[in-house]
Amino acid sequence: MEKKYRLVIASGNRGKIKEIGEILGVEPIPYSQLLPDLEIVEDGDSFKANAILKARGVWEGLRKKYPGETFLVLSDDSGLVVPLLNGAPGIYSARYAGESATDKDNRAKLIRELKKRRVTRTPAYYVASIGLATPWGVWTSHGFMYGEVIDEERGEEGFGYDFLFIPKGFDKTLGELSPQIKNRLSHRRMGLEGIKPVLKVMEQWLGKF
Ligand code: IMP
Repeated sequence: MEKKYRLVIASGNRGKIKEIGEILGVEPIPYSQLLPDLEIVEDGDSFKANAILKARGVWEGLRKKYPGETFLVLSDDSGLVVPLLNGAPGIYSARYAGESATDKDNRAKLIRELKKRRVTRTPAYYVASIGLATPWGVWTSHGFMYGEVIDEERGEEGFGYDFLFIPKGFDKTLGELSPQIKNRLSHRRMGLEGIKPVLKVMEQWLGKF
């Protein structure tokens, strides 16, 4: 079936965009290509609320700027939860070390917090809330990946906190494991698997209208 819509990713995070493309087997269109000036304030109080804000914000922006076209917009609000740190960095994962913090600054802060508590490793998990904005409304799904975080960086694959995160059942960080392994196990994969059936139905519905 010829595509009657464009699937746009409501994220500016290159690591996420790459993984979403790999997991769904599509060439992802980042929203910044179509809406370079759009800024979305992520002030929700949960991953899910922020995933909805992003998907809906980009979908509304596209609808206004490209009135004759149909879009499906996929968002991903995600982060790392460390129970020992009362759930931090959590929904603030991207700005754990401050508003303009880099991934490296955020990892350095996490390492400092672990060292302060004199632990070299502690349980942690990633969460991904996936949003899908469509002409019929917004759907959500979520995924988790359990494991531990350690107090030193290892490896170079992935992004964000991956150099510190050892998934359950492995003895290497995601930084040391291949992208294929991460994409089999990850919170993002699990969340996207949950939204795939909805994407499929939307594709069929869009063919009807
Ligand atoms: P968001 O763009 O506001 O959802 O922020 C997500 C932040 O969580 C990223 O900047 C990373 O720091 C972290 N994060 C989310 N998913 C991953 C992942 O798969 N690996 C490593 N860090 C992640």
